[in-house]
Amino acid sequence: MPRRDRTGIGDALEDLVARVQRLARRQVRAALVSHVEDFKVEITVLRRDLAGLRRRLDLAEPRRTRPPRPCKVPDCPELHCAHGYCKNHYQQVRYREMKKAEAKKLGRTFPVLKRGGKRPGRRPKVALVVGKS
Ligand SMILES: [Zn+2]
Repeated sequence: MPRRDRTGIGDALEDLVARVQRLARRQVRAALVSHVEDFKVEITVLRRDLAGLRRRLDLAEPRRTRPPRPCKVPDCPELHCAHGYCKNHYQQVRYREMKKAEAKKLGRTFPVLKRGGKRPGRRPKVALVVGKS
């Protein structure tokens, strides 16, 4: 146990040192808190700037995509593109819907087919003649 002096100056000094330490601690903490808030704001601004730069450099993270799945038409080997169909079957569905809507607009109950009443997509085969003059 440390020896106590009779004048009480030692105790007063200890008390003063403790008060100064408390005050200093409080001020340092307050300064740190205000700096932390400044840093948070600065980091937010920097993140926004970085995202803008990435977009401009076309380095944006790729959009999350779902895993590939097959076309819903049985035995079609293609992968899904839209509405459960592959790109080819989706185009067929869209074409059929367009023709149905066209027929409805004209007041018909059957779809309007391509010229000459032929089935869509079938073309007459034409032989290629080479070297004929
Ligand atoms: Zn398909």
